[in-house]
Amino acid sequence: MNGRFFHFLFPEVCIVCGKLLMPSEYGCCSVCRNSFDAFSDCAVAGYTLMHSIESHFKGKCSFERAYCRYVFHRHGPLQKALHAMKYEGMYNLGVAFGRELGAWLIDAVPPESIDCLVPVPLHRLKHVERSFNQAEKIALGMAETFQKPVRTDLLLRGRFTVSQTGLQVTARKRNLDGAFQTPLPDMPGRVLLVDDVVTTGATVVAAAEALKRGGAASVSVAALALSAKE
Ligand SMILES: [Zn+2]
Repeated sequence: MNGRFFHFLFPEVCIVCGKLLMPSEYGCCSVCRNSFDAFSDCAVAGYTLMHSIESHFKGKCSFERAYCRYVFHRHGPLQKALHAMKYEGMYNLGVAFGRELGAWLIDAVPPESIDCLVPVPLHRLKHVERSFNQAEKIALGMAETFQKPVRTDLLLRGRFTVSQTGLQVTARKRNLDGAFQTPLPDMPGRVLLVDDVVTTGATVVAAAEALKRGGAASVSVAALALSAKE
């Protein structure tokens, strides 16, 4: 049965195990949530993510700091939950994940150390197909803790996403340079880039490079999960 339809009929069951949810639970029961492979230490999690990206992109990992919450395992319960979030319309689960990530990070990331949160954008066509960007939902949940704006206008994805017409020479070059563009002239200084799952880090590295080219002084990255090497 189509997952979205299933949840329309049975919204009160856990997306991972199918058991009935308690009134305080949304999408995923606390037993399944506790079965996700969580890092126990925020600093270790950040170091692991940073080291993983650096191992793939030597010298290109220009993140100020890195943060994540879980290790992502193929076919694990977290993958089931994220799949439901992405493809079965359970986008409020993304906000819930973001709240949890924000609460986990708040001691390590003083809100005054960042100016805004920037979710990694989906390609425009994917956005239409999926109707929402899961990284944006995670960022919205985090923003409740950090009390910083979520900026979806600073970073765009896909060549020719922005019409070249009317852009100045430097903006035109920026618009064609790589997969991400930064269309606005004013870029906040300290950006926290937000994504759902980091695998090699190619996407977040490209996004961070674009943000820096666009004028960001420093870019840190917060991911819900780092994919395990399997
Ligand atoms: Zn469950």
